[in-house]
Amino acid sequence: MNSSFTEMYETIKKYDTIIIHRHVNPDPDALGSQGGLATILAESFPEKRILKAGGTPEDLRFLGQMDRVVESDYENALVIVTDTGNEPRIDGEHEWMKKAACWMKFDHHPNEDHYADIEFVNDEASSSCEVIYEFYDANKEHLELTKKAAYLLYAGIVGDTGRFLFNNTSSRTLEIASHLISFGFDFTQLNRHFIEKKEKVARMSGYVEQNFTINEAGVAYIIITQEILDQFGVTRDETSSMVGIMGNVEGVKAWGFFIERGDQKGAFRCRLRSKKAPIVEVARRHDGGGHELASGANAANIDEVHQIIDEITELVHRTEEEMA
Ligand code: AMP
Repeated sequence: MNSSFTEMYETIKKYDTIIIHRHVNPDPDALGSQGGLATILAESFPEKRILKAGGTPEDLRFLGQMDRVVESDYENALVIVTDTGNEPRIDGEHEWMKKAACWMKFDHHPNEDHYADIEFVNDEASSSCEVIYEFYDANKEHLELTKKAAYLLYAGIVGDTGRFLFNNTSSRTLEIASHLISFGFDFTQLNRHFIEKKEKVARMSGYVEQNFTINEAGVAYIIITQEILDQFGVTRDETSSMVGIMGNVEGVKAWGFFIERGDQKGAFRCRLRSKKAPIVEVARRHDGGGHELASGANAANIDEVHQIIDEITELVHRTEEEMA
């Protein structure tokens, strides 16, 4: 059950130390919601210690740095988690986090894991940054929204809506973006961060365009092994911009970007996307979850990757039949 934004504000007021987390493998919405909220709270409560926990991928450093957080910081602290549907995906020291006095969650993923004491989840919001903005808006007599916070929230919205192209973009999303832009940050410069890529990433994007497979159902996929990553000198994080490539191909209805894990040779992280068929069903059967049309899963080996592709194919057929 969602708490009210007023109750969440009152809870935040009670704590001297607030540590903000978000999910592993962060994207702009994870970092934007974490950093945007941290900035709003730091400006509004200068006497409080507001810390951001987790690792930062090299290519998203333009969205800020994390703080050094130690175990003792969690004593009597409030932990806030943004943009993270399930507890195991929180980036941070879970044993330390358990020492906190209270946990709060702000999110837009389907709410299946009620890991926090106080939560607000709207799975119809475009992004967690939109949820954080609504929290600010409901308490704006008490909270400060600065140019820096506006920049971070806008970055997350741009990231999760694919620059306002995905169907999670609502008129409210645009209204919020319009207000955020009025703070006067350089949004063309920000957009350049989203568009520009390193030469090696551009070359590997070309590899993806040349080598993906598409089957009779309109399911496209590519399997990226460690060897292919090494060939291009590209890191796993740097492949994020390539996930959407197959979706831009005419006739593709759903697609999978399968990338070999660094910690488990022969196992794959699966990044699944769809235009209509709810691929989250498939993701949930394979140690994953996420949104209806944008999900992630884990495959223990290449056979499981092919099983996932078969399940997506079946799902696409079923969805087409239901809609016929
Ligand atoms: P990604 O392909 O990593 O960009 O993830 C797409 C969406 O699925 C995001 O909202 C992620 O938070 C979610 N997601 C990715 N991997 C998992 C997982 N293993 N379990 C649950 N949700 C996931």
